[in-house]
Amino acid sequence: MEAKRADRPRHIYGPVPSRRLGLSLGLDIVPPKICTLDCVYCQIGRTTKISATRGDFLDIQIVLDELKQVLGEGVHADYITIGGSGEPTLNVRLGELIDGIRELTPIPVAIITNGTLLYRADVRAECAKADLVVPSLDAAAADVFRAVNRPVVDISIEKLVSGLVEFRREFTGQLWLEVFLIKGVNTAPEQIAELKVHIDRIRPDKVQLNSAVRPAAEEGIAPIEAAELEVIARQIGGPCEIVGAAPSAESDRHVQRTAADVLSMLKRRPCSVEDICTGLAINPHEALKHIAALEAREEIVSERRGDTTYYLHRSR
Ligand code: SF4
Repeated sequence: MEAKRADRPRHIYGPVPSRRLGLSLGLDIVPPKICTLDCVYCQIGRTTKISATRGDFLDIQIVLDELKQVLGEGVHADYITIGGSGEPTLNVRLGELIDGIRELTPIPVAIITNGTLLYRADVRAECAKADLVVPSLDAAAADVFRAVNRPVVDISIEKLVSGLVEFRREFTGQLWLEVFLIKGVNTAPEQIAELKVHIDRIRPDKVQLNSAVRPAAEEGIAPIEAAELEVIARQIGGPCEIVGAAPSAESDRHVQRTAADVLSMLKRRPCSVEDICTGLAINPHEALKHIAALEAREEIVSERRGDTTYYLHRSR
């Protein structure tokens, strides 16, 4: 039986290997799962509360205290990434949180956002405190936006794009736009051409093409082959890249990992044994031991995706 760590951080996870950010130490500042969207590809599962109303969801000082504790354990990360179990810009304390992180560490701060609230000046000002903002844009047309992202009613594609354009005008940090592609839904050449019009207006520092390498909220969303992604990347042109493989962890090997650490990773997203090994800096034997314990307690399930088995938290 696993010993339970008394004061385990509840709002910090990882570092996890991110295909976009290297080793990412995540801060989860929105309860599962409140979001302005209910994307069909979401790795967290279905949105349980769809809302565009910002809220004061948790005591930011607790998050900062947890971060201080984790950093004090010598954990290495390439980014402190604000995101987690919903849309982080829904948290009204976002700016305050970034100010607090700056006082604790020089590690760069990233925000993973769906970008839907960037039409608001307050959200833009808070996001502008970060070093890197990674918003999403998966559609150019309203019907595709509705089909892929299933937005709350008062978010339109026009509002999303104009917010992104305005934010780019104001933000001097790095803006990496993620485009999630679903075969047969938003990958036709004419759809990519329309998307490119928006991207050219937004002028991100990078465009990152992603597809469903991990199990999604809805079934039947398959990953796209590299060759097709390369054709789309060429069509978009400019700073467009296909999101690559995750790197290896280099530090925090001395930290004792438990099945609860594995479960904490899997609550956020499905992971392979390799992801768990890299994210927690443990060997496959140790990862498999924790997986077996979690499966025996019926806390996780597995799912095949191509040649890889992914492990998912059972509540997904
Ligand atoms: S992918 Fe992001 S924006 Fe879409 S539903 Fe999930 S948390 Fe929300």
